[in-house]
Amino acid sequence: MICKFCGAENPDGATVCGNCNNYLVEEYVEETPVMPKAAKILGIVSLVFSILAVPGTCLVFPGVISWLVALITSIIAKKKAKAVGLVSKPAKAAFIISIVELVVVVVGVLILAIAGGGLIATLLSKVGM
Ligand SMILES: [Zn+2]
Repeated sequence: MICKFCGAENPDGATVCGNCNNYLVEEYVEETPVMPKAAKILGIVSLVFSILAVPGTCLVFPGVISWLVALITSIIAKKKAKAVGLVSKPAKAAFIISIVELVVVVVGVLILAIAGGGLIATLLSKVGM
């Protein structure tokens, strides 16, 4: 039996999908879909890591790892929740935070590069180069 929510194969006679916990039997379909456990856990994980990766720490090694973990887990959690017609709020928040962090870091690096370039140019002009 194929789950209509997530497409997972389930043994015949099963009433609940082993993958997403939604009911497989027709009369239960009206019930509110259940958020898959994996989506719940990954959503929270992504939110925690997105907060760990706030700009400032994002420029150092663990920050980058945290940011990557946040981005990847939030995308997976979002997909898993979407498969059953739900929205994972923590994953959505984590995804938005990750994108904002990326923008902040990119803009920050650009500003530093421009400011740094200006500083080097000033120093070079002072020594007459
Ligand atoms: Zn399923």
